[in-house]
Amino acid sequence: MTTDDLRPDPLSFIREELDDLRSRHLFRPLRVMSSGQGPIVSVDERRLISLSSNDYLGLTHHPRLRAAALQAVRDFGAGSGAVRTIAGTMTLHEDLERDLAAFKGTEATLTFQSGFSANTGVIPTITGEQDLIVSDELNHASIIDGMRLSKAPRKIYKHADTGSLQAVLDEAVEKGREGTGLPYRLILVVTDGVFSMDGDIAPLPGIVAAAESANAAVFVDDAHASGVLGRDGRGSVDHFGLHGRVAIQVGTLSKAVGVLGGYVAGSQDLRDILIQRARPFLFSTSHPPAVAAACREAIKVMQEEPELHDRLWANTKRFKSELGRLGFDTGRSETPITPVMMGDPDTAGRFSERLVDEGVFAQPVVFPTVAIDKARIRTIVTAAHADSQLDRALEAFDVVGRELGLIAG
Ligand code: PMP
Repeated sequence: MTTDDLRPDPLSFIREELDDLRSRHLFRPLRVMSSGQGPIVSVDERRLISLSSNDYLGLTHHPRLRAAALQAVRDFGAGSGAVRTIAGTMTLHEDLERDLAAFKGTEATLTFQSGFSANTGVIPTITGEQDLIVSDELNHASIIDGMRLSKAPRKIYKHADTGSLQAVLDEAVEKGREGTGLPYRLILVVTDGVFSMDGDIAPLPGIVAAAESANAAVFVDDAHASGVLGRDGRGSVDHFGLHGRVAIQVGTLSKAVGVLGGYVAGSQDLRDILIQRARPFLFSTSHPPAVAAACREAIKVMQEEPELHDRLWANTKRFKSELGRLGFDTGRSETPITPVMMGDPDTAGRFSERLVDEGVFAQPVVFPTVAIDKARIRTIVTAAHADSQLDRALEAFDVVGRELGLIAG
């Protein structure tokens, strides 16, 4: 026996943590797809109707995006080879950013490797000790991490509650910075445009009005509003007609746009400072040519094929109202994200497993992503779903819902 055999495993706590997760039905195994993304996917050798992707417009497999990606590989190769500030900025990146700025109606945009890195890049870059971040309590994890990376103090307001936001802002203006009483340099109000677990839309007009009363800047993370809300999917600012009143919009290229990436849309100054300071931009390699080219094509497709957007919303309305008619609690959703409330994580896990038996792939969302008693099956319909596929999915929900006693049998 060597001394190594006697030495306790310093990582043994990981096993204990995993055992604990399993015993509380909170362990989430990865489901592996052997097909591409789409309304029908292959999971564990089975063909299933997928209600689990964020592929709102079906662009992940759109022929024009595939062709653009392939052409970019032929012309420019597989990788970009460096971070943007060294030798990793290609015309493709700059062209995409110009197209995105025109689409969003902003002076400039800057792309990041993901929506997650956009949030963790921009928030600490533009805020510091002399500022205050005011955040909705249900904002996305990447916003929370962005705030953690900032030196700015933060205050949380009640979810989507403009009265609570106003109270926080009034106090911030009245009292000023803790310890000094001096006014904050910047008060930044941060909200998701569409909340990813409930599918509700942020009350942006009220948020903007409250922010303006305190001369605060508004930051909207439109990950789930990109491609979904507004003209041709321009996002929540366009949806509410608030152009020019929201200083910073973050969007993702990984959901409705169908590829991968994130972007920040705002002023030219904002873009310039992010290029100088935002750490994911400075220290992580830029998008491969195929990604930038496919994203660019997607922005064109969104404007040239408006029927995709129409189809997304027609499918959304039908699916949501049918789930309600069957007797399910679908919470406060107003968008293609429709949670089907289950309560405890065990029921959510069993419901999802039974849906697979019935030919439907819809994943449970459990603690810590949502509160322990608010486990749910999160469904997302896309423009690519056919009526017959949605009908079959609804039948499966009906069968399993009655079986597990969630709806009257
Ligand atoms: N913000 C929100 C609100 C999101 O839902 C997500 C993705 N789940 C992100 C940011 C991150 O986007 P990406 O997948 O492009 O990193």
